[in-house]
Amino acid sequence: MDIRNQVILITGGASGLGAGTARALVAQGARVVLADVQDEAGKALAAELGQSYVHCDVTSETDAQAAVDAATAQGTLRGLVNCAGIAPASRIVGKNGPHELSLFRRVIDINLTGSFNMARLAAQAMSTNEPQATGERGVLVNTASVAAYDGQIGQSAYAASKAGIVGMTLAIARDLSRLGIRCMTIAPGIFGTPMLFGMPQEVQDSLAASVPFPSRLGRPEDYARLVLSIFENDMLNGETIRLDGAIRMAP
Ligand code: NAD
Repeated sequence: MDIRNQVILITGGASGLGAGTARALVAQGARVVLADVQDEAGKALAAELGQSYVHCDVTSETDAQAAVDAATAQGTLRGLVNCAGIAPASRIVGKNGPHELSLFRRVIDINLTGSFNMARLAAQAMSTNEPQATGERGVLVNTASVAAYDGQIGQSAYAASKAGIVGMTLAIARDLSRLGIRCMTIAPGIFGTPMLFGMPQEVQDSLAASVPFPSRLGRPEDYARLVLSIFENDMLNGETIRLDGAIRMAP
């Protein structure tokens, strides 16, 4: 996929991995539309990059359609990068009682259903694109987590939501192959973003030290480089790639 002058929609684009991806894509000549619920930060980054921002709660059908419409208004929508997500920690039985079902449902709604909601509407819009020389009409990139595999304590809802993304990736890829639309998922390990910065410094330090190589936290640029590779390589399809420096998260 040649992304130059093509439009890429990024959910969770106001912060962390989504923001880093926006910077990298713009540097490669793409046009990006940032979609998020953090309007102030999203507008500020869009203004800095000379790009667009749209308010979009990924759980809302109308917001998601409005974000896809905002993207197609900018040109040909060739990519969706689903970065929106939340990761609240909660033991299944904790000091204040059992894990709240409403919290479980909220995590699934944002991380899993939200990713699917965006994917279905972006793919619908991409289905009418002229194929590029490779035969591709578009590329969908989701964000799972090593939590989908590693069984971290306090992360049952998050793990379920991310495992759901892993599970739907190949099904979406095979389903959309007739339209020339690929679907890939990245499963990051431990990245230095606001999602992690809420943790005490000593926890962050020990997490960084537990990455076998390189012995550091992942950076948004590391994630963005893999997104660029996925766009670039049309043989990558239906797969989830761990991006984690070989860390295995236990407990
Ligand atoms: P982040 O908190 O910096 O960014 C997440 C963004 O998602 C925020 O801008 C937030 O406003 C947005 N968001 C939350 N709910 C939303 C909603 N309903 N609609 C639209 N936007 C919403 O965190 P990040 O680290 O950049 O996370 C990006 C993705 O990477 C997430 O899916 C996260 O689960 C995943 N991830 C992060 C790490 C890590 O270590 N940071 C590891 C594995 C996976």
